[in-house]
Amino acid sequence: TQFDLKDLLLEVIDQLEHKASKRKVDLVFQYDEKEDYITSADKQKIYRVCQNLIFNAVKYNNNQGKVKVSLKTSKHNLHVEIKDNGQGIPPEDLKRIFERFYRVEKSRNKKEGGTGLGLAIVKHILEGHKSKISVSSTVGKGSIFSFSLPLVKQVLPEGKEKQDVN
Ligand code: ATP
Ligand code: MG
Repeated sequence: TQFDLKDLLLEVIDQLEHKASKRKVDLVFQYDEKEDYITSADKQKIYRVCQNLIFNAVKYNNNQGKVKVSLKTSKHNLHVEIKDNGQGIPPEDLKRIFERFYRVEKSRNKKEGGTGLGLAIVKHILEGHKSKISVSSTVGKGSIFSFSLPLVKQVLPEGKEKQDVN
């Protein structure tokens, strides 16, 4: 189905807002009001992807931490980036976080609940959409998770060609 990825992200963020404020984490969303972010994908599944990635960024953060979600377009794709300035993930763990039930020792110690299934599901869902999840992380600095989905160009009514005004 086709839907606006910006609206979906707004919903996810709205739903996670109180979890973020409880942990004193600042959750921000950056996108361009003038853009359309229509994609074609399984909406429920992409909701789960966004929910897990954003909740992880909130959970594995610090007090006064910050999570920045940004949505951008390129010619044929939408790009979602979830950036946190939390604890980061050591290189030896980074290779394994997408395995089922894998959790970084430090996270277990943090007493944050979780089964270690979230990222395995994220990876599986994105693969089913011919997409993939990317991650880069620095211990003590934070992590960036990102993925892309196809951009669906909206067909404008006859005679109403979209023009560049510049
Ligand atoms: P679940 O998502 O099933 O409730 P979980 O969050 O522990 O549990 P995953 O989402 O699969 O499981 O994440 C796996 C592990 O990767 C986490 O336990 C945590 O150690 C690490 N991790 C994931 N996201 C981040 C992040 N943004 N910053 C630091 N560590 C992270
Ligand atoms: Mg998780």
